[in-house]
Amino acid sequence: MNIPNQITPDNGNDMQFVRQHLIDPESCLCCGSCEAACSEGAIQTDRLMQRYVIDPAKCNNSHACLDACSSNAIKTWQMVPAGKPYSIEEQFAWDVLPPKLEIGGQTVPLVLDEDELPQGHPAPASASEPVTFRYTQQKPLAVRIESNVRVTDSASDTDIHHIVLDFQNTDFTWLEGQNIGVLPPGEDANGHAHHMRAYSIASSRGGEAAGSRQMALTIKRVIDVQDGKPYYGIASNYMCDLKPGDTVRCIGPIGSHFLMPQDPASRILMICSGTGIAPMRSFIQQQQRMSNNLRVPLQLFYGGRTEAEMAYVDELQQVPETTLALHLALSRSPAHPKRYVQDLLWERSDQMAEFLQDRNAHIFICGMIAMGQAVMNLLAEIAEQHQLPWEDLHHKLLHEGRLQIETY
Ligand SMILES: Cc1cc2nc3c(=O)[nH]c(=O)nc-3n(C[C@H](O)[C@H](O)[C@H](O)COP(=O)(O)OP(=O)(O)OC[C@H]3O[C@@H](n4cnc5c(N)ncnc54)[C@H](O)[C@@H]3O)c2cc1C
Repeated sequence: MNIPNQITPDNGNDMQFVRQHLIDPESCLCCGSCEAACSEGAIQTDRLMQRYVIDPAKCNNSHACLDACSSNAIKTWQMVPAGKPYSIEEQFAWDVLPPKLEIGGQTVPLVLDEDELPQGHPAPASASEPVTFRYTQQKPLAVRIESNVRVTDSASDTDIHHIVLDFQNTDFTWLEGQNIGVLPPGEDANGHAHHMRAYSIASSRGGEAAGSRQMALTIKRVIDVQDGKPYYGIASNYMCDLKPGDTVRCIGPIGSHFLMPQDPASRILMICSGTGIAPMRSFIQQQQRMSNNLRVPLQLFYGGRTEAEMAYVDELQQVPETTLALHLALSRSPAHPKRYVQDLLWERSDQMAEFLQDRNAHIFICGMIAMGQAVMNLLAEIAEQHQLPWEDLHHKLLHEGRLQIETY
């Protein structure tokens, strides 16, 4: 597509303007997926990973980052004087985007033509219309914690919590597959308020218990060792330590493409590891509540080290086969052969190849960035094995809204 990216304002002044690709710091989830998608190394982060910015000297406008962004923060452009783009240092200092430029008494438009901006990939065609950012960093919603329970074995190192928030008497609504932003209290080492952290919503739109207005999150407590000292993740530890009755400041809902297709003919394949199970759980809950019993059962490929370190395994095993086909991949279980989700998919490579070509088939991938990349490499391998040109197929899957990836 030929996208105009240069204008000369009509005010007698011959200054040239070019379009600069930016990231909106207010809605950026700081997940790093745009950085992983950019082959030019144009996306930079600060030491605390609280800001992601685009280096104008390296950005080649390939827009590979657009398909990776969950929050649309990456869909931001501004017209700036040619040769004087915002530097990465300037961008690191922003809490909000700068206002439109005023030059010679004329406001420079943010973009030349909204319709000609690259869009990134869409949601599934039959997904419900999402509301996004009803609550923002400037105007968060205080929400009460209903319950907070550890769901992994207490003897294991993996501490995952099922945390239920109560949205009674609020106008916060959500769809399966959306995220919520959480604002932890306090400031970072630079004196900035902590930026929001995103968490996938684990309950269907109808609430954790049907009609309850309660929403579950699935949060893993992050404890890393850095230079021999423990580092406690700011938001995950804050959330995992909350007690019933406490309140938490929330933003959102966030996300407009990782959404469940509503067409009953849709075939849905969900691939996840770790807390990537959260949005898949919301899909399963919704599938159980949808009245049309002609729906095709959901397929779930769920990876983890052992069952004791994975959230919701018992619950998933109780779901009837008419709703869910569950495939667990355990990588450290003494009782099972070592398996990653990729191994399970590879064993079904003929089925996968058929699935990739079915217009009713949708693939959802959620979890660690490395798992997402490994699954994508595997899908490319399966496609090549079946003489399906992967580049075209990949493009088609994304642009028909049939491939959704949310990794962090
Ligand atoms: C779309 C999306 C959905 C998500 N869904 C979920 C979900 O459902 N469940 C879930 O558990 N998570 C989810 N996440 C991840 C979540 O947003 C957080 O990134 C995660 O909880 C870690 O945040 P934290 O504040 O605890 O850790 P942070 O404090 O942000 O630290 C993260 C890492 O940065 C490094 N680090 C940062 N500062 C320092 C420092 N001063 N010294 C040393 N090391 C440092 C450490 O390696 C640390 O592990 C999601 C992310 C995205 C983008």
